Order: sequence, then C-alpha cells, then structure tokens
Amino acid sequence: NQKKLNWLGFQKKERLERIQMLKANGFLTDEFEQILKKNENLPLETANQMAENGIGTFALPFSIAPNFVIDGKDYAVPMVTEEPSVVAGCSYAAKIIGKSGGFTTEILDRKMIGQVALYDILDFENAISMILENKNEILKIANDAHPSIVARGGGAINIEVKNIDEFLIVYLIADVKEAMGANILNTMLEAIKIPLENITNGKSLMAILSNYATESLVKAECEVNVKLLSSSMETSIETAKKIELASKFSKLDIYRATTHNKGIFNGIDAVVIATGNDWRAIEAGGNAFAVKNGKYEGLTTWTFDESTNKLKGELILPMPIASVGGSIGLNPSVKAAFNILGNPDARTLASIITSVGLAQNFAAVKALVTTGIQHGHMKLQARSLALFAGAKGKEIDIIVERLLESGKSINLENVKKILEEIKS
Ligand code: NDP
Repeated sequence: NQKKLNWLGFQKKERLERIQMLKANGFLTDEFEQILKKNENLPLETANQMAENGIGTFALPFSIAPNFVIDGKDYAVPMVTEEPSVVAGCSYAAKIIGKSGGFTTEILDRKMIGQVALYDILDFENAISMILENKNEILKIANDAHPSIVARGGGAINIEVKNIDEFLIVYLIADVKEAMGANILNTMLEAIKIPLENITNGKSLMAILSNYATESLVKAECEVNVKLLSSSMETSIETAKKIELASKFSKLDIYRATTHNKGIFNGIDAVVIATGNDWRAIEAGGNAFAVKNGKYEGLTTWTFDESTNKLKGELILPMPIASVGGSIGLNPSVKAAFNILGNPDARTLASIITSVGLAQNFAAVKALVTTGIQHGHMKLQARSLALFAGAKGKEIDIIVERLLESGKSINLENVKKILEEIKS
C-alpha cells in the first residue's frame, strides 16, 4: 500500500466531503459511496425479521478514524458510537502510532470453545476416561450435526474434560472459519448432549458456547516514538513515564482497571458494532480475560524504553470476531463498513479491532496523565449542548468557540445565552 493518503482537514469537512475523501483515498467503492451518501440504513422489513416485537430502527453516529497503519497496511476504521471524544481520541492515537510505524498484530489462535455441563455423575474417573476413549466418536457426532462447516474446512477438532465440584464439564473446541461460531457450536453441543449422558450415566444441565474465547486470542503491539508525545523532549519523556505508571496502576487497583478497560472497549465496541458483530460477546470475553491472573487488571501494558525512547504498548484479548453470519450482510451500513476496511477476513478484522483497542487506550491514558480527560471532552460536550439547545450549522461552531473563550461553565444555560446573542 504505497499510495500517499490525504486526510488533511478530515475532521473539519462536511459529511459528503468526508465520504469523498474516503473514496479518493481508495477506501470506498462506487456502490458503497452511494449507500453512504444516501445514508442508507437497515430496512424496516429486515429489522423486523432480525429481532422480536420491533417498532422501528434505532440510529447511532457512524464515523471514521483515519490514519491507521496495521501490519504495514493503511486503514480508515469505521466506528459506531454515541460517545463524544472516542473517535477523536482514536484518530489522534492512530496518527501518532502510524507515524511511529503503526501496529503489528498476531493471531495467537482462532478456535471457539463450547461446553456441556454434566451432573449426577457417580464415578468421575470412569466418566472422564469413557469420554476420552470415545473422543473420536463424539467429535464425529458433533461434525455430523453441522456438516457445512466441515465442508468449509472447519469443524470440531478436540474435546477436553474437567471435573469442577459436582460437575463434569466437557469442552468442545471447533474451528468455525469465518463465523463467530455461536450457532455452529450450539448445534454441535446439543447433538453430543445425549450421547455424553449415555456414556457417563450422568445428566446434562446445559450445552452452550463459551464467550471466554481463550483459543481466539489476538495480540496488538505498537512502539510510539516518544518525541511525538509533545513539542518538548522533556515533557515527552515525562509523559511516556506516566503512561507506563498508568498501565501499572491499572493492574493494581480494580477501580482504575475497570475504567481503563472501559476505555479500551470504547474503541473496540465501536468497530464491533460497525461491523455487525456481537459486542456483548467481545465485552464478556475481554472482561473475563482481564481476570486471567487471578484478579481483574487493565488489559494493556505500556513500557517506556529509555534507551531507545520508545513507548511500547501491548494488548492481548480474546477477539472471536466474524466476517460472515449474524447480522453481517443484512445491514447496508455494516456492508459499507466492511467495504471501507477492504472486506477483511475474520483474522484481519480481529487484528484491526485489537489495534483500535490499543489506540483508544493510548489516547485515553495520555489525556489522563497530561491535560486530563475533560479538556477535549468539554469541547465536544459544548457541541452536544449546542445541538440540544437547537443550534444549527455554523451556529454550533460559533457557540463552542465563544463559550470556550469566555471561560464560563459549559452548561445548557450559557449555551442558550450565546445562541440568543447570535440570533438577535
Ligand atoms: P451464523 O449461524 O449466523 O453464521 C454461521 C454460518 O455462516 C455457518 O454455519 C455457515 O453456514 C455460514 N458461512 C458462510 N461462509 C462461511 C465461512 N467462510 N465460514 C464459516 N461459516 C460460513 O453465526 P454463528 O454460528 O457465527 O453465530 C453467531 C450468532 O450467534 C450471532 O448473531 C450471535 O449474536 C449469536 N449468539 C451468540 C451467543 C453467545 O455469544 N453466547 C449465543 C447464541 C447466539 P453454511 O455453511 O451452512 O453456509
């Protein structure tokens, strides 16, 4: 990807100009340019088929974080979020990290785990050895229940058994290819439930996919050139040291760890939603993984290398993301998001999303240890208030500018006063 990209002034452009820039930079085909220009959304008929008791569709802002460089490739990342500052923070981080060489990622594995919980087992030792003896037969039953995934080169590949308290838990591990795999695994698990009862003389309590996707771990890393952190080298080094400290702090105090990880998911969820994936699954898996060391910790690690003046960041978490299935393919906005990303396969999408999580964390932590989070936030808050007060077009920028200049509190009353001044 040698093309020189032009994102100059992207955040100040009009919506249609931004779409034009995406196109000019080669991130959009003609078909999806039209879909975005018309702001074509999920059709009502489709929405009605997707979930029960529908009364309409529900819209959220659809944005772009440009300047991502991931594994040597340029990306403009589609994000769906209602929270001000998220896209701005992510774009800022992507730019700095992009200038430092970008993100490198590694798919540590990509398999899904499901479980059948058995109880009323009289002889655990015997039950475990019976299951393991019949492993190939059980795997065959699982695969016969979902032959199409086998035909695609995937399917159930392993079985593990564990006794926890009164339960005998059978874990089924499957390669679900481009899918997230919940339906695939649930079908397989339900098929092996009765055979497992027969083999073990026990009863099955339930059979379900696990969202603790420890066999779908993805690692994203980056090395930030410290001199890009501020205009003075002294401040830059101090900031890098503080980011390292913030990462350490997030591993020691659960009150901070929770917020630290929420910040990571600000970015991750936005892309997961934009790409039609199951964000509850990604959140649940990520938050459970934060407890992998026995206590809840911040998911990212930042270390400052004084000898090279590099700030190294790392994020590892389960990322069982899909490029097919679920609502992907039903929603025109989701299809547009895939188009903007160059129609990535599931592995590439997992790399992109994990990198976004690391970027978002960098932006949040850097803001926290320097200017504080409210600095950027209040400007966006002022915009939201201006919108709420009924300001339109240029009025919004004027209100934000005047309010910030005045040093007055950013509240609805002051926003309304300025709006009245402008209109009078
Ligand atoms: P789907 O069943 O929607 O899609 C998977 C299907 O897509 C496959 O069975 C396959 O069917 C088809 N497909 C087409 N191309 C490929 C390919 N290259 N690789 C793999 N499959 C392909 O989705 P999932 O099984 O992924 O389940 C995800 C859905 O389940 C989500 O909507 C999620 O919200 C929901 N869910 C989540 C749960 C959880 O997280 N705990 C629990 C229950 C549901 P074929 O081969 O026949 O064409």
